[in-house]
Amino acid sequence: MFLSLIINMTKGIYLLLGSNLGDKKANLELAKTLIQQNTGHIKRQSSIYETAAWGKTDQPSFFNQVVEMDTSLEPRQLLVFIQQTEKEMGRVRIEKWGQRLIDIDLLYYHDTMVSSTDLTVPHPGIPERRFTLVPLVELAPDFVHPVLKKSHTALLKECKDPLKVERLLSY
Ligand code: AMP
Repeated sequence: MFLSLIINMTKGIYLLLGSNLGDKKANLELAKTLIQQNTGHIKRQSSIYETAAWGKTDQPSFFNQVVEMDTSLEPRQLLVFIQQTEKEMGRVRIEKWGQRLIDIDLLYYHDTMVSSTDLTVPHPGIPERRFTLVPLVELAPDFVHPVLKKSHTALLKECKDPLKVERLLSY
């Protein structure tokens, strides 16, 4: 029992979805549909949060959501499908808006660590981004970051990111 609790602390495949152009909620929904068609089953979804743009702040706010999924794909295969989904949506939207409307990050693949030119897992932005940590705390407060060895609750407490993260819609 205790052992399984410890093992489950770093179990789960988590993606972060983000959109800041057009119908942001519809973009998240379409991304989830495509992810399920191409890669596997979405088991749980966080609320959708409205978040101030991070990094390049002179752009519209984002809608962000974290999903937990099941897939038989390996991390690199999953990245290929994630990028395909981004491209598929980009192609649709490029005609209408001339911009990319969806960003999908692979946050965790259980406790697997990958460090290569095209893929880093866990995603290196997690500890410094409130817009990632807040939905992660909602879904998996006790999940222990396999590199930093800290829970999401602890990482959020330590996070210095001042940007606003506001819950919009519960799932
Ligand atoms: P962006 O669209 O700004 O999120 O960046 C996408 C780029 O980040 C792609 O070239 C990916 O190969 C790379 N990348 C590295 N690690 C990850 C990850 N964990 N999830 C998504 N993209 C990643």
